[in-house]
Amino acid sequence: MNGTPSRGVESVTIDTVLLKTASRCNIACSYCYVYQLGDQGWQRQPPAMSRSTIDAVVGRLDELRQAQGRDFAVVLHGGEPLLLGEALLTRLLTGLRARLPVGCTLSVQTNGTLLTEPLLDLFSDAGATVSVSLDGPPKVHDARRVGFDQGGTFEATLDGIHCLQRHPAAERLFSGTLSVVEPSTDPGEIYWFLRGLGVPGMNFLLPDGNHSRLPPCKTGFDSHEAGEWLAALFDVYMSDPDPVPIRLLDDLVKLLLGGSATKEGMGQDLSAIFIIDTDGTVTKNDTLKSAFDGADRFDEPWSVHSHSLQEIARTATFRESVELQRPSANQCLRCPELSVCGGGMPLHRWSDERGFDNPSVFCADHLFLISRVRRYLDAHLPA
Ligand code: SF4
Repeated sequence: MNGTPSRGVESVTIDTVLLKTASRCNIACSYCYVYQLGDQGWQRQPPAMSRSTIDAVVGRLDELRQAQGRDFAVVLHGGEPLLLGEALLTRLLTGLRARLPVGCTLSVQTNGTLLTEPLLDLFSDAGATVSVSLDGPPKVHDARRVGFDQGGTFEATLDGIHCLQRHPAAERLFSGTLSVVEPSTDPGEIYWFLRGLGVPGMNFLLPDGNHSRLPPCKTGFDSHEAGEWLAALFDVYMSDPDPVPIRLLDDLVKLLLGGSATKEGMGQDLSAIFIIDTDGTVTKNDTLKSAFDGADRFDEPWSVHSHSLQEIARTATFRESVELQRPSANQCLRCPELSVCGGGMPLHRWSDERGFDNPSVFCADHLFLISRVRRYLDAHLPA
């Protein structure tokens, strides 16, 4: 019954809908999974969502909310989502805000270089929040987040952040920064730099890579450079009497104390995400692109132009794509930290020989970080 609504297959409740409003980017970061890791899917997509795709997205999300009776988060993503342009962003966000309840959050993940006051007014009116990708001070950020001329993008990103911070609704609009871990840098320098900028929150991502194409920061499966870096960041975070929240570390602490994570890639709760591509095609989690060309594609021709999202959520195929988050490797199933680590992100489990049936390529990093945070909690919490 793959691909068709299946009796006996329970409908999956959707947590997040990620909209690829633009398939291109105005900068060329060296680590980007969309353009730099083998997948060429972006070339087959229109540069930006059309009016008819936007209208179909708004209608399908309205139907989905009514059908599942539960709110979900809507994230504008890319490429660079602001390349959609002000007129179409207005059509999309005003359409979504008019049809979805306020419990359905709207957010934008941007490189910040195209932020303007009119766009921020639009986001503010729609109740949307903005997260800016910023890796740290200029020498860190500009080493990887470059333009097509290979020049750094730090100044343009900082201009965007300042524009955001000057906006009358800045406190509501600005959700924080997103940075990619680079173990050759000093985590304390990055934390204090971002904190000094006055960002309201931080989050950190592990770089892309898998067992067949190691992340650039790893020398082998057993090395734990990123784990050491994150553990050092945790120490800095704990030493700050007035810390700025770091989502990844807060999730880890919550899991170690018996709670749940707020993001996929940690813990054992499944999160169900629809990705809607620029032409309206529905795809799997787009970070899978880093495994091989087309890894994020369903075989079915699902599109907001022809399929309702709740019907897709009821298919065995979609459920299988969600359950891919559960690790299958024996090493994970026997691991004492499975309930905290969750096997990491599926993209990090890929190998050309065994598919996703591996522990995370960051396994040693996860274990290093978990053990550091566990030791801290043991020492600081009452028994
Ligand atoms: S990836 Fe490693 S740390 Fe995580 S659950 Fe699997 S074996 Fe355990």
